[in-house]
Amino acid sequence: MKEIWQEVYGMQEELTARRRDLHRHPESAWTEFRTAAMVATELARLGYEVYMGDAVMDEKEMMGVPSKEVLQSCMDRAISEGADPALVAKMAGGKTGVMGVMHFAKPGKILGLRFDMDSNEVVESTDPKHRPVAENFRSEHDGCMHACGHDGHVTVGLATAKLIAERKDEMSGCVKFFFQPAEEGVRGARAMVASGIVDDVDYFLSGHIGFNADKDNELVCMTGGFLATSKLDAHFTGVSSHAGAAPEQGKNALLAAAQAAISLHTISRHGAGASRINVGVINAGTGRNVLPDVGEIKLETRGANTDINDFMMQEAKRMITASAAMYDVKVTTKEVGGAPACELSEDMGKEIYKIASESGEFDLVVPFISLGASEDCSYFMDRVQKNGGQANYMMYGTTLAAGHHNMAFDFNEKCLPKAVGILVTLALHFSNK
Ligand SMILES: [Zn+2]
Ligand SMILES: [Zn+2]
Repeated sequence: MKEIWQEVYGMQEELTARRRDLHRHPESAWTEFRTAAMVATELARLGYEVYMGDAVMDEKEMMGVPSKEVLQSCMDRAISEGADPALVAKMAGGKTGVMGVMHFAKPGKILGLRFDMDSNEVVESTDPKHRPVAENFRSEHDGCMHACGHDGHVTVGLATAKLIAERKDEMSGCVKFFFQPAEEGVRGARAMVASGIVDDVDYFLSGHIGFNADKDNELVCMTGGFLATSKLDAHFTGVSSHAGAAPEQGKNALLAAAQAAISLHTISRHGAGASRINVGVINAGTGRNVLPDVGEIKLETRGANTDINDFMMQEAKRMITASAAMYDVKVTTKEVGGAPACELSEDMGKEIYKIASESGEFDLVVPFISLGASEDCSYFMDRVQKNGGQANYMMYGTTLAAGHHNMAFDFNEKCLPKAVGILVTLALHFSNK
């Protein structure tokens, strides 16, 4: 196993360069055309079978996809920045998921490894002390920034694919690499899972840079406490009228939206576990002297398990409908994201802990940490487990310049070879079980 670690430490420069290229060209949810084209090209070069578009995404299950115009301009941008136009064409409509598959000579387990690719809608810091500014790899895409570390995830995924391909004689069964779009807003995993590509996986692994693993050279083996979540938009439509001469002829969508926002925060908490609700956006009205005929709110619910989240969402929809009825306006709702809760596979987690500890490559190996947030990897994990497989989620330790989604977010690139090293080590172990 020592040679795996020697090889990954020797790749630091290559990993840093890849991560910085991705950091300079961030692409937010469903617009990862350049990133996915790079992934597909590299997987093919390494000898993987590459699947894209409808083969890996169920269009009906894609949530919160941007408009055709936005998608087109992002496709054009990707091509202008070097993406292969034929690959970009395969991703029309925002189907930016990519799967790489390699079958090995020896029969054995099917291993699934998942990496998310999207950036955030954040304007990156211009502070000269911010390392991407100081070292010249700040985002070149206005309003987009890799502020969560998914540039690191793609980098780790491709390097892991390279080392596994080099070791194909030591591997058994089959490995599947899932490169997922639109993790932010928990929108992308559902469509990939619904396509059925994860159904045959025996052992599934994913992970995240940073978060609760905030020390360099740390590994968290099992990350639990994923909250189930739903994201909902509600649009209220009333009737406008003159606010001075004929207010009685209007139907007030602004008040309905405001009423809904307040009522939603009064939904009863749930006795069986944690529940959350947040109305994060409200927009309404058109002018000071016009009785407002339009209103919208954007909200999310969360729950310690899927049942609790379902309760929160059901109550939320009831409150929204009732608020609309109160002001006699129409309302439509649209689910724009969501993820179930999920359990970890403990036996697999214990093996990860043992292997990571024995490797001697980490200063700190933590068996378990609770996330207390949502991550749509839970769709993958839940599906694998329902089909009798095992699934786990790790965290790759790094000090952070600022928190996730902050404009000054940055991580220590030394965490990249560590993540690759442990993934390759675990891949060899679980494929041969
Ligand atoms: Zn994030
Ligand atoms: Zn993230």
